[in-house]
Amino acid sequence: MVPARIVCRMSGAANPLILDGIALRDLMVKQIAARMAGAGNPHVCLATVLVGDDGPSQTYVRNKHKFAAAAGLQSRNEVLPATATQAQVEDLVRRLAADPGVHGILVQQPLPSHLDNDAVLRLLPAEKDVDGLTTGSLGRLVRGEPGLVPCTPLGVLRLLEHYKIPTVGRHAVIVGRSTLVGTPLALLLSRKGVDATATIAHSRTSNLAELCRSADIVVGASGQARMIGAAHCKPGATLIDVGISRTESGIVGDIDFDAVSSIAGAITPMPGGTGPMTIACLLENTLTAAGLQGVAV
Ligand code: NDP
Repeated sequence: MVPARIVCRMSGAANPLILDGIALRDLMVKQIAARMAGAGNPHVCLATVLVGDDGPSQTYVRNKHKFAAAAGLQSRNEVLPATATQAQVEDLVRRLAADPGVHGILVQQPLPSHLDNDAVLRLLPAEKDVDGLTTGSLGRLVRGEPGLVPCTPLGVLRLLEHYKIPTVGRHAVIVGRSTLVGTPLALLLSRKGVDATATIAHSRTSNLAELCRSADIVVGASGQARMIGAAHCKPGATLIDVGISRTESGIVGDIDFDAVSSIAGAITPMPGGTGPMTIACLLENTLTAAGLQGVAV
């Protein structure tokens, strides 16, 4: 007999499957810790670079170090004042790039506006680029070569895999075309083995609701609060919320959870979906980076 849960997911349901990013992050942290222990706890180190005193950035960096420690990884937090010059930031990143004891480097975004972010990113060697944002890393992704993939798109892929959401031959619409989220996610979803047909939508896309309604998987990565509603959701579709908007009523995503929850088959909570997965995938990338640099782990 087909379990009731599956019947519900195929037809759209009052209780869609919740794609719990906190539970999967915790599982991935445990798996990485076990892998590290199994390899004799080699030295694997993630370095973060934080420039300035932006509150959310400080929280993000603190969390990254907390979970790195839980996974058995070393981590270093390099902090520069908001007044740091381009030369000071570049000098720090050059030193980390040359340090054989540092395997992953993450430059916390956004940098203060007087700094040239692209010039800083150009200093990151592709094999230490755990954010996967450099030209080298993105080029490897396009070419299908081994390398580091941006953490948030990788987190979306891990959620789909873990919760066994079918992707082969399915249509995925990604709302947002940034190099941080939308574009690398489209590449990941259309890779051989994942085999979805990915469509990237953006602010100039016509008939967005109709396009999303044709999709089996919709990923909201626009940063427009609750822009994806019932009109964008095919019964039984999987909805993944990446967008983060800070409103008076708190943090909300791109997806209007209440409006779609009786239609969708599966959905991420916001918060508690893609955000925790971004951290888990940063740790996964740090391990991958160490492997690319010859550490047996
Ligand atoms: P960007 O601002 O770089 O990109 C936003 C994209 O959304 C653009 O391509 C833009 O189109 C598109 N867009 C904006 N408005 C609309 C609209 N009305 N209809 C269709 N498309 C639209 O943002 P990021 O990619 O950096 O981040 C996206 C969101 O994800 C943000 O809210 C960010 O805070 C969040 N985020 C969440 C993470 C997580 O861990 N959950 C991690 C990283 C980011 P166009 O190109 O035409 O302007």
